[in-house]
Amino acid sequence: MLDQKVTIITGGTRGIGLEIARTFAKNGATVIIFGSREATVKKALANLKTEGIDADGYWPDLNNYNDIESTIKKIIDQYHTINILVNNAGISASKPIDETTPEEIDQILNLNVRAVLYTTKAVVPYMKQAKNGTILNTSSMVSIYGQPAGVAYPASKFAVNGITKSLSRELAPFGIRVNAVAPGITNTDMVANLPKETIEPLRKSIPLGRIGEPKDIANAFLFLASDMASYITGEILQVDGAARC
Ligand code: NAD
Repeated sequence: MLDQKVTIITGGTRGIGLEIARTFAKNGATVIIFGSREATVKKALANLKTEGIDADGYWPDLNNYNDIESTIKKIIDQYHTINILVNNAGISASKPIDETTPEEIDQILNLNVRAVLYTTKAVVPYMKQAKNGTILNTSSMVSIYGQPAGVAYPASKFAVNGITKSLSRELAPFGIRVNAVAPGITNTDMVANLPKETIEPLRKSIPLGRIGEPKDIANAFLFLASDMASYITGEILQVDGAARC
């Protein structure tokens, strides 16, 4: 479905991002993962290798535009094009606002929002030149319903939806589609760290009766990245088992 499409996936070292990398590579894409540290990127690449998947990886500081831009230039020098960008790196929050520090608010907004804009800004000139491209963002079900604590996280994901809808209109004339996937509760480290007493009631409240698996989410990304979705842009695709928590 993605034959030879050069794809960058931020936050590609584990969880949803790693599963997107695996799924895209199995569908013919040339995959480049970004992670926060050299060690975690190399570990993820080694794991993919044991599954027969050859991928590449970089660890630019997503808080530093110049670092992102020079990494994108290196990728262009080697691969000559970038067909798909998946802005997936993200962190969450769960503390009440009065217990949240200003630094924690900055950390979330910087990674979940500003880094999406930085990385997209660095990649778009090459997609415009090619008159073709697909940008996919990882949103969240909290971007639809909010959540009862950790407000910076839903704030960041509402912003991701705004970026998706706005850029879909700005970039459509250049043949670039922009969509987002809004996962529900998904079985990754982000969720594994929660106690069973928290998870079980959440699971029971999901109409489809289970927590999502990274594969459920990666398949939605695959569809949106593929030509099957060639007339879809500006969409926020909810993949959450009808969870409304
Ligand atoms: P995860 O914690 O397993 O993975 C997060 C990824 O982001 C890792 O690859 C990590 O390297 C990267 N990352 C974290 N901090 C970074 C930094 N400072 N700089 C660069 N990269 C950094 O999380 P996940 O559950 O796979 O989450 C992936 C995305 O899915 C996030 O955007 C998250 O908000 C979203 N999401 C997750 C769930 C869920 O239930 N797991 C639900 C909805 C949305």
